[in-house]
Amino acid sequence: MLTLAPRMSRAQPSAIMEIALNAKRLAAQGRDIISFSIGVPNFLPGDHVYQAARDALEHDSGQYGSNRGPEALLDAWLGSLERAGVSGYGRENVATGVGAKHVLFNVLYALIEEGDEVLIPTPYWTSYVDMLDVLGAKNVFLPCSAEQSYKLRPEQLAAAITPKTRVFMFNNPSNPTGMVYTKEEIAALAAELVKHDIWILSDDIYREMIYDGIGWHHLVQAEPKLRDRVIIIDSISKTYGMPGWRVGFVAGPEIIAKACVTLNSTAITNLPEVVNAAAAAALSGPQDVTRGKCEEFSARRDKVLESFSRIDGMTCPRPHGAFYAFPNISFAFGRKHRGVVLTDDVAVCKAMLDSVGVACVPGSAFGDPEGMRISYTCKEHELPDGLARIERFFGELD
Ligand code: PLP
Repeated sequence: MLTLAPRMSRAQPSAIMEIALNAKRLAAQGRDIISFSIGVPNFLPGDHVYQAARDALEHDSGQYGSNRGPEALLDAWLGSLERAGVSGYGRENVATGVGAKHVLFNVLYALIEEGDEVLIPTPYWTSYVDMLDVLGAKNVFLPCSAEQSYKLRPEQLAAAITPKTRVFMFNNPSNPTGMVYTKEEIAALAAELVKHDIWILSDDIYREMIYDGIGWHHLVQAEPKLRDRVIIIDSISKTYGMPGWRVGFVAGPEIIAKACVTLNSTAITNLPEVVNAAAAAALSGPQDVTRGKCEEFSARRDKVLESFSRIDGMTCPRPHGAFYAFPNISFAFGRKHRGVVLTDDVAVCKAMLDSVGVACVPGSAFGDPEGMRISYTCKEHELPDGLARIERFFGELD
């Protein structure tokens, strides 16, 4: 019988997508479902973005384009990085891809040999591990509990780095916890990292979604010597409400950008002209839609925390960014809901979907089975209703 390559036995579809699809399926069957499962921003970009796309269509060349990305798009992104306080990168340091996911895959593909050690703080974004598994990496998990606000401490990093460590995965603000590292915390991690010759993959795609004036601080700002090992990942998906347009970026040492350009040449050639023009307009045009959404999400975050504080036994470190909260739900394990024993996070999320029609993602999908992720970008009226249902669900535990 003809078979697949052995690496495919390690590949699996995104667990988050599966749950989101299940929620959609139930809704299509007529069930009253509120989905807090998928991390989509749920807003559309400003008119200028659509106008740029229409203009590009008018002048479409219909031809293949640059493997790196057109200069106008590269410059628009470099401008946005500079506005965020990260400067000193040129076109030779950057490349585009089909969303941050593709760029991440390109970078990991370029760096990882089977058996290489990769440090991953948990909870982590599910796809990191999906990608690393396919590539045969040895994943080393660094557990960051709710008590430490899900943030990695420098001493954990120091204890985990070995001569075999190749890559450290860092995501700030974090999906799934919404945690944001302070300037001091970033400086402390940078001071440890600078002692080691390892690649640092900094996934910054939520950098514009930060609340409470904490600000976004970066490892390369804290320690410029890290520039030769930090790889910055970014995307228009979350910042501009454009996840379906599929544009992502990488910045780093020239060899990294060049590797991504080569892999683009091998696998995709280029992003479409219309998409490039829309992305450039989003990055360099007015930022008011993003700012407005950030304020709105911060107010929603408050509502989520207020609601969770009314649930006996639940703890939820205060998220300062992205649009997620990650409460610890282990108080419910072993208890019963309408006669069903809730053995673990998956059982809790399943019972919640079955009984009150709310879809959340079990923490085990992110490497932390004591938690559950809620993404609060749903339609406005759904948030109070969904939160009330969650409160009711946990209020019914025996
Ligand atoms: N990185 C993180 C932390 C994410 O949460 C996501 C999407 O959810 C991505 C990367 C992928 O983003 P993109 O839509 O640009 O592929």
